[in-house]
Amino acid sequence: MSVRFVIDSLDFVRNAGIHHGRIPVLELARLHDLLFDREGEVTYQITGYFDKNNKPTLHLEIKGEIHLSCQRCLDKLIHIIDLQNDLHLARNEVELDQNDEEDTSDAIMACNDLDVTDLIEEEIILGLAIACCHPEGECTMQYHDSTSSLTDTSQSAHPFALLASLKKH
Ligand SMILES: [Zn+2]
Repeated sequence: MSVRFVIDSLDFVRNAGIHHGRIPVLELARLHDLLFDREGEVTYQITGYFDKNNKPTLHLEIKGEIHLSCQRCLDKLIHIIDLQNDLHLARNEVELDQNDEEDTSDAIMACNDLDVTDLIEEEIILGLAIACCHPEGECTMQYHDSTSSLTDTSQSAHPFALLASLKKH
């Protein structure tokens, strides 16, 4: 396990902090249920700054490639991560509520032991589509369509895929 990177979020902004690192997919435990395998890693950069309204803000950039399981055929689905997000730091509940009303950027509570790995993991999960499937035509499991002659052959190629997806429910 690599050492987790923990920051005092407001201090990080005051010091115009900048940090980049890599996280093996193996260590992103909350993602594992969605994954086909645990290969690869994500790279990230976190920057602290005050935005134009002088709000303390964390800017995140996350890049990488993860292998999801297609929700239709359960085969490998390559997902490219290329995320950028600004998170305002709220010093209390009032600021947090105000931000939700006034600002399009998300806000999180400022804290003195913010686990950056957790934050990255959270952003990746939020960035995933709810149902992750291969695009039409690239999936080995076709939609049920009586007019398609491909249906029978593609289904027999993955006899257990449908069963496995039923078991999940
Ligand atoms: Zn698929």
